[in-house]
Amino acid sequence: MKRLVVVSNRVVNPECKAAGGLAVCILDGLRERGGLWFGWNGEIVADESGVAVACTRYDKVTIVTMPLTERDYQEYYLGFCNAALWPVLHYRLDLARFTQESSEAYRRVNNHFAETLAPLLMTGDLVWAHDYHLIPLAEGLRARGVRNRLGFFLHVPFPPPDVLFAMPEHEWIMNAFVQYDVLGFQTKLDQANFTRFACEHMGGEMVSDELLRIGENVVSVSTIPVGINVESFAAAARRPEAEERIQWLHRRGEPRVNIIGVDRLDYTKGLPDRFRSFKRWLELYPRNCKAATLMQIAPPTREEVKAYADIRHELEALSGEINGQFGDFDWTPVRYIHRNVPRDILAALYRGSQIGLVTPLRDGMNLVAKEYVAAQDDDNPGVLVLSRFAGAAEDLQEALIVNPYDADDVAQAIQRAISMPREERIERHAALLARVREHDARNWMCKFLQALDAPSIPLAA
Ligand code: UDP
Repeated sequence: MKRLVVVSNRVVNPECKAAGGLAVCILDGLRERGGLWFGWNGEIVADESGVAVACTRYDKVTIVTMPLTERDYQEYYLGFCNAALWPVLHYRLDLARFTQESSEAYRRVNNHFAETLAPLLMTGDLVWAHDYHLIPLAEGLRARGVRNRLGFFLHVPFPPPDVLFAMPEHEWIMNAFVQYDVLGFQTKLDQANFTRFACEHMGGEMVSDELLRIGENVVSVSTIPVGINVESFAAAARRPEAEERIQWLHRRGEPRVNIIGVDRLDYTKGLPDRFRSFKRWLELYPRNCKAATLMQIAPPTREEVKAYADIRHELEALSGEINGQFGDFDWTPVRYIHRNVPRDILAALYRGSQIGLVTPLRDGMNLVAKEYVAAQDDDNPGVLVLSRFAGAAEDLQEALIVNPYDADDVAQAIQRAISMPREERIERHAALLARVREHDARNWMCKFLQALDAPSIPLAA
């Protein structure tokens, strides 16, 4: 079995108990094959003199990390990655900020990563890079003579060509993508947007459903949706501690129905629109007023980027407005929690909530939607209300699919979910759970590694 080398912006410590489902899955893959995980350790140092590469071995897994300088953190991480690429890839050109310094920093940090990683690679290693921070890594490795199979998975959406054109660096970014041997996307839509750009604007040609020939390169391009570890999540939702928490949720003498939302406080998650939809539901169905509470868990994220501070203020104002207008002595309509909640507690909250409200304006996949499904009781499940713009919606069609921009549509879906007969809930949930199982975390990793481990396709003469 070939050794696996994973590269991601942030590296997960193998001893960290709170690691997410995907990280655990990748760590399992590294342990099984023996491997190396390389990336940023999350630390920031004043300048280059403080940048030291650290290497730690955990049995068959080697973790190699390095810090970023303050300048790289500002220009590469907050700048190009999170104020240019993130909004563009999520179709939010209005929020994108392009500067020459930040795009240079993106090249610089990727080059530095490539320079540090190249000497650590052995012949036959499979190299798997993750996400939008590392699009040019393959280019940097190739420039240093690396001939290994190189794969890249994009965890976020890929927009249509017209959106990408707005980015000054789009040509270079697209050329960097096709230096990889294998590209993985979350949805068929993302894959189609990418191949459309490559074929219509770069002279590429699809030689089969999943093989793109472009210049000197043949690139395998697949849709491999990320998933969760269903069994471990379902088990967390059924632990005795979870049971207690659910009892507590229903003991407070407050409403019968708990609607849950769980999202990083990111503008892509559509939280203000979600709050407005909930308010619309209260206006449209006043008789139900005290029948439900919206519990929104929204931990902080990237607060140094202005757009993130703005969304926080907007959300705080909206929850205050709704609670002031509709709340009563015995009922708080919106419970807004601005901190990170551990996953085992989330599992219990999902299970104790009759509606999972997942309404991003655009999302690569959205694992919360899958976790909500996995945590439900098979014989009395809650209802998933899901944005059509979440990657998960391509698969989870038995959810109530909504347009998150349309408050009336979401309000009606909430009402429909509240009054849905048990039989219909059971039927929808069984279908959803089957899909969540089919595309779980392990399946995602195996499929990607299968594509990465396939022999290179020689160019036809
Ligand atoms: N999450 C968590 N605690 C929180 C909020 C979220 O552990 O307070 C987890 C959640 O369970 C999920 C992940 O963070 O596994 C969010 O993944 P998703 O794909 O939904 O969104 P992303 O944050 O990657 O955009």
